[in-house]
Amino acid sequence: MTRSITILGATGSIGASTLDLLRRERERWRVVALTANCQARELAALAREFGAEVAVVADESCLADLREALAGSGIEAAAGRAALCEAAARGAELTVAAIVGCAGLAPTMAAVEQGGIIALANKEALVSAGDVLMDAVARHGATLLPTDSEHNAIFQCLHGQDLADVRWITLTASGGPLRTWSDERLAAVTPAQAVAHPNWDMGAKISVDSATMMNKGLEFIEAAHLFPVGLERIRIVVHPQSVVHSLVEYRDGSTLAQLGPSDMRVPIASCLAWPGRMDTPCKALDLPALGTLSFFPPDEERFPATRLAREAAEAGGAAPAVLNAANEIAVAAFLAGQIAFTRIAAVVEQTLTRTLPSAPATLDDVLAVDSEARAWASNILEHA
Ligand code: NAD
Ligand code: MG
Repeated sequence: MTRSITILGATGSIGASTLDLLRRERERWRVVALTANCQARELAALAREFGAEVAVVADESCLADLREALAGSGIEAAAGRAALCEAAARGAELTVAAIVGCAGLAPTMAAVEQGGIIALANKEALVSAGDVLMDAVARHGATLLPTDSEHNAIFQCLHGQDLADVRWITLTASGGPLRTWSDERLAAVTPAQAVAHPNWDMGAKISVDSATMMNKGLEFIEAAHLFPVGLERIRIVVHPQSVVHSLVEYRDGSTLAQLGPSDMRVPIASCLAWPGRMDTPCKALDLPALGTLSFFPPDEERFPATRLAREAAEAGGAAPAVLNAANEIAVAAFLAGQIAFTRIAAVVEQTLTRTLPSAPATLDDVLAVDSEARAWASNILEHA
């Protein structure tokens, strides 16, 4: 029996890991839509390889290249934000939401509104839209499967359990490549150093987020929506080896953890095969070779991002969307060589001191908060 699948963000790191798994079970999958920001030739090659119905680029200036690269294939080519949503709404049984940033929110919402299964990697969509997205999931009878490795771990540890019995959810964080750097060195970090993650091979934005610890801050908010046990029951522990992907402690003192290699194909496979299992080519865990697993409390003096995220989650309303938008702007400025690494969290903190709009109630509200916060953060950058 074949299943239909759409991959939003097919040319990225998560997209590539997903397609690698599909390639190994090619006959099981019917690909509906593949999307990218631009990368027209790469997207067209994937669409041809997987016989997609439609390929979509978000950036309309890339449409001519996409059309040319798809000529004679019979595969539809489209471009723009509306086309992304239209592709996401074609009703694939499973949609992998792997666009980076709040740019993925509207297409993810379009997939949710079809009521299918959404494997969510695009954490920024959930951070920004929070209750709006979760309400849509409930209203449309969609199933949200967490693809982020920590949340996938927690999802597995919660299987068959009652949330009311949970004492703690513990998110593990690698601490990123700069965990042990001095304050002086942190101030002079280059983009290349920040994206050189010791354990995971990921896109540039999430790699910087891992280095600042904002990735864990976003994941704290993501966890609060996916597993509503209360913010005070979610905590973060630094675990540099990235072997234990997260843990759930129950009120009887039992702690369940999910372990695995630091390869996103493991949590992606768990979503693709859910509620079953599938083979992956990932290396088995060799515990004696690993020897020691270590755990530390996070250092919020040097890496304030987790504090900022927790405060935004506690404030609720528009704050998480503002936090995310400011972070996207600051990370882009850092990657472009415009600001120092240590300014990223500072810009986010400063943006959050604005008088925030009221809690967004619809997708359009969230997108309005997002664009307003981007303008504030850009303004802070210009006047620094
Ligand atoms: P990436 O940068 O490698 O890929 C992003 C994808 O989104 C690409 O296909 C790109 O073309 C597309 N895209 C970028 N900007 C776009 C826009 N404005 N409109 C439409 N499409 C756009 O990113 P990634 O590392 O694959 O991460 C994707 C998402 O998954 C992020 O939200 C990230 O936080 C999350 N995630 C990634 C990993 C990982 O290991 N890479 C792990 C956990 C969660
Ligand atoms: Mg993660």
